[in-house]
Amino acid sequence: MSRVIHILTEQVASQIAAGEVVERPASALKELVENSLDAGARSVTVELERGGGALIAVTDDGTGMGREDATLALRRHATSKIRDAADLTAIRTLGFRGEALAAIASVARMVLRTRRPGDDHGVEIAATAGEIERVAACAIAPGTRIEVRELFFNTPARLKFMKTVATEQAAAASAMQRLALADHRVAFSLGADGRSLLATPRAASPLERMRQLFGAQLAGRMLAFDARSGSGRAWGLAATSHESFATPRMVLTFVNGRAVRDRLLARAIAQAYATLIPRGRHPAVVLFVELRPEEVDVNVHPMKTEVRFRNAGALFELVYRALRARLSDQSVPAGAERPTAGNDGGNNQTAGSDEIDDTAGADGGIVRLARPVRSGPSAHPGGDEERPLRLVADNSTLTGVQRALGLGYGGVSKSDAALRPGFEPGRDVANDRANGAPHSPSIDYAGAAMTPSAASAAPIETGPRGAPVPRYSELRILGQLFAGYIVLEDSSAVADDGLILLDQHAAHERVTFERLSAEFRAGGVRSQALLVPATLELAPARAAQVTSGLAELRAIGFELEPFGPATLLLTGMPAVFDGADGMALLTDLLDGMGEGGLRANGSGAFEDLLKRLACHGSVRVGRVLKSDEISALLADLDATPFKSNCPHGRPVHIRFARGQIERLFRR
Ligand code: ADP
Ligand code: MG
Repeated sequence: MSRVIHILTEQVASQIAAGEVVERPASALKELVENSLDAGARSVTVELERGGGALIAVTDDGTGMGREDATLALRRHATSKIRDAADLTAIRTLGFRGEALAAIASVARMVLRTRRPGDDHGVEIAATAGEIERVAACAIAPGTRIEVRELFFNTPARLKFMKTVATEQAAAASAMQRLALADHRVAFSLGADGRSLLATPRAASPLERMRQLFGAQLAGRMLAFDARSGSGRAWGLAATSHESFATPRMVLTFVNGRAVRDRLLARAIAQAYATLIPRGRHPAVVLFVELRPEEVDVNVHPMKTEVRFRNAGALFELVYRALRARLSDQSVPAGAERPTAGNDGGNNQTAGSDEIDDTAGADGGIVRLARPVRSGPSAHPGGDEERPLRLVADNSTLTGVQRALGLGYGGVSKSDAALRPGFEPGRDVANDRANGAPHSPSIDYAGAAMTPSAASAAPIETGPRGAPVPRYSELRILGQLFAGYIVLEDSSAVADDGLILLDQHAAHERVTFERLSAEFRAGGVRSQALLVPATLELAPARAAQVTSGLAELRAIGFELEPFGPATLLLTGMPAVFDGADGMALLTDLLDGMGEGGLRANGSGAFEDLLKRLACHGSVRVGRVLKSDEISALLADLDATPFKSNCPHGRPVHIRFARGQIERLFRR
């Protein structure tokens, strides 16, 4: 026995290769439907039996194949989509590797029927485990139908890894959903064991496709975003930050029409929602990235679900900014926009739609992001003790609309006026849970209802709905409840009337956090000198920690000088907190400091620090507010980006619709 190495038979090699491409019925389905799309189909129908394990049948009305091509198509490395390696640099089709049909055929019993429109009959090819058994003429409408039976019948190892019918079916349905999102111009239908799981006619826009797939309610509450840069475009729909989910299943990313899983995109999305939704929870985002084909390498993964970007940094920035800009002001949901956009594949923001939304456009959104939140506090001579936490509006720096109690809108800015017609289009917590438990007046905002339902054909979370964010200062102030919540009546003409409870601490925390962050980004939190410097005595270990963090403290507005072995002198504090007790603020902050001191937690450290500072420096639950303080807070909030949630992701307000209140009274 001199030789131990031998070349595997073509059949074994195909089976091995198949393992990379066809992991489960859903991946076979994906490959077959992608072929239909590449063939220019306008309608794709899929039937499954037993989750796809018994049968996957895909029928399309695409170009079809002639007899010779159809026979070749089942061979490995057979493709009509590329010719040479150079073509790999600019792929414009979903397929290009020429291995899917061969791979599927090698692990199943396949019957392929296909006919080109010009041919008077079609051809039928039957293959088992990749071996062609029959080629014959057949009758079929122009297009292609591929039936795959008994997937993995000859690969017992793979068969063992198949999950339950329900699980495989759910995976197939979500694969189908991604394909349907990727191309709204194609009609899709998916049936399983005689039941329809998904049926979407051709749609005029991605938003309409979203409605078909996710329902008008969720789609209607999503915000459209769209940004371009030199290297490409990032657009799509994003849930408001009032909504969050326990899994990232509702984060769907597409690159040049291809559904991909990508860490970079996931990270950009997660970061855009940072401080807006609670840690560990996920938003709903449908993101479409369009890049020149040369900018993306799609040939890095056999299933083509991963890609590599030539300029990852720029792409990250583009996506992050597109979303962040849109989330900074969530006043108008996508649903308020015209339902159809151009059907040329883009959801072009039509000129003239500014009546509804002047912020969704790429540039508009980014400009908004860069706009400083508000100029800092101006010095007011003669120490005004009515302003302990600067809750009272400084009228000199506020626009007309922010004046207390909405006594006329003389100074309404253009964008404010533009926003009003679409304001609160009647979607809110209560309306959407039409049959909410009538005996319970409370809404479990962050409760169990927000966890996703079990995997199902339509994997949509049903939970409390995110109402669009109102312009708080335009609502009637009813008063303060439990010294912690501001009670507002929302009787806008467009929306259903509602009662709004606003968490004063969460609201003020966001206002303060955004002011601090803006100053921090602009070079450092502005500091205000104390009239009388105060001394701070610390335990020696603590003193060493604090002394080594003086630069960090200065960056967030605290000026400290060493003043003896374990004593420091506080000479300045963040100007934002004008009038507050700077020493108390500083000690609170230092008390919350961990073992490692101020530098401890790496890159996010400053954000955490600012969050804590905002928290300590914001008005507490338990503080009775004067009516002008309430008005000022509402006006400040309106002028603040990301006002829907506090920096820890808790909601700033909860809305009870009139209908819900009336139901409680059995009206
Ligand atoms: P790839 O899609 O990478 O080219 P496949 O193995 O998936 O490789 O398909 C091989 C070839 O078979 C395709 O290039 C295409 O020419 C042809 N083909 C497959 N499915 C269809 C279809 N539904 N309609 C028309 N042609 C098809
Ligand atoms: Mg293919």
